[in-house]
Amino acid sequence: MKARWVLPISAPPISPGAVLVADGRIAAVGPVGAIESSHPSLDLGNAVLLPGLVNVHSHLECSLLRGFGDDLELFPWVRRLTALKYTVMEPADFEVASLLGAAELLRAGVTCTADCSDNGLAVLRGLAVSGLRGRVYQEVFGPSAADVPASLAGLAAKLDLLQTERPAGRVDVGISPHAPYTVCAELFGACAELGRARGMPLAVHIAESPAEVSLIRDGAGPIAEAMAARELPWSARGTSPVRYLRDLGLLDLAETLQLIHCVHIDDDDVDAMAAARVGIAHCPRSNAKLGNGVFPAAALADARLRLGIGTDSSASNNALSVLEELRFTALLQRAVERTPHASSAAALLELATLGGARCLGLESAIGSIDPGKQADLAAFSLDGPEHVPCPDPAGALVFGPAPGPAALTMVGGRVLCRDGRVASFDIPALLDDARARAARLIARF
Ligand SMILES: [Zn+2]
Repeated sequence: MKARWVLPISAPPISPGAVLVADGRIAAVGPVGAIESSHPSLDLGNAVLLPGLVNVHSHLECSLLRGFGDDLELFPWVRRLTALKYTVMEPADFEVASLLGAAELLRAGVTCTADCSDNGLAVLRGLAVSGLRGRVYQEVFGPSAADVPASLAGLAAKLDLLQTERPAGRVDVGISPHAPYTVCAELFGACAELGRARGMPLAVHIAESPAEVSLIRDGAGPIAEAMAARELPWSARGTSPVRYLRDLGLLDLAETLQLIHCVHIDDDDVDAMAAARVGIAHCPRSNAKLGNGVFPAAALADARLRLGIGTDSSASNNALSVLEELRFTALLQRAVERTPHASSAAALLELATLGGARCLGLESAIGSIDPGKQADLAAFSLDGPEHVPCPDPAGALVFGPAPGPAALTMVGGRVLCRDGRVASFDIPALLDDARARAARLIARF
C-alpha cells in the first residue's frame, strides 16, 4: 500500500511512502517506486500511514458506562461503577460493552490494547471477534487477608478459561491485582507468585490520586476513612505508593509488571521504576478528568522509563482515542511547564506506538514499521481543508484538527477498519443492542 506520508517511527518519515505486506508481516518499507506494493489497489492517498496505535490501558467492560460519573472524584467514582457493575449490569452487557469498545478502538486506529477487566472473558471474546491484538489482565480484588483464598480460587478459574479461549499469537493473558486500596499486601504477594508460576504479566493501578497517597503514607484521608467504616485493616506505610509496591517485592517482576497512572511520583520512585524496567501506563485524560493531577514532565521525558499511553476506560475518560490523548498531553504539558519544548509531536507518536509496545514487552513484534514485524498499521486521512498546509505530518496528527475515523486499521495484515467502517463485525446491530442496554442502565442510574 502507499500513502503520501509513511511514518515508520524507527526511521525518518518517507514521502510518498509504501509498505509491502506479506503473510501478515511487514516485508519492506520505503519510497514509492523503490519497493513493490503488495496491495496495488490500496492507495491511501493524502494520508499518514504509521504503526498501529498501542493503547496500554483500557477497561473495555466499562464501555456501556460512559458518562455515568462525569463529576465524581476517583473513590466515589469507583464505588458508583462497582455498584452498577455488580448490581445492575448483566453478563451479556459486558460482552456488548467489550465489542463496543473494540469498535471504538478500531475506528481510532488502535491495533493493540492492554485491558484490565473483572469480566476478562467478555473482553477476550471482544478482542477475538474484532481481530484486535491485545492482552487481557484479569482483575482480582481482596482488601483483607481473609479474602485471599477465595480471591485466588476465583482468579485461577478465570485464568484457566482465558487461556483456553484466547486466540493464541494475538491475545495473551495477565493478572491485575487492582489497586492498593482494593488488594491487601498478602494478595499482591500471592498474585506475583501466581504470575511467575504461570508465566503471566501483572498490571496494578498505583499512585493515581492524592487520596491514595494519603492512605499509604499516613493512613489518613477519604479512602482510609471508607476502609475504616468497612472495618478493613490498614496501617500507614510511611512511604510512597510506588515504594510500597517495591517493599512488597512487586518491582522484582521487572518487565512483566505494568504500573498504571503513576501521577504522584518523586525522583526516588522514578529511579526505582527505571532500575526495575517496569512498564508504565500514562493515562493523561483520565487523570485530568477525575481531578487526580498531571504526570510529571520530567518523567515523561525520562528515556529510562518504559512508558506508553493509555486511555483508561470510557467511564473515566469518555473516549478511547490514543491520538486524542497525545493532543491533550502535548497541550497540557506545554501549558504546565510554560514551554513549547515540553513534548514534541514526534516524541508523542513514538510513545503511542513503539513506546506502548515496549511498555508491554512486545517491541520485537509491533510498534514500528520494520521488516519482519507484524503488519499492524493505521492510517489517517489529511485530505480536508483543515489540513492545508501540512509541513509536518506528525504535527498535523497531534496538533491539527482531530482527523476523522481511521482511513485504515490493519492487524497482522488483515484490514479491520476502512474509512471508519469496521469490517470484522456487524456495527449497526451492535449499536442497536448497545443503545437498548444503555437505556436500561440509564433508567437505573
Ligand atoms: Zn484503569
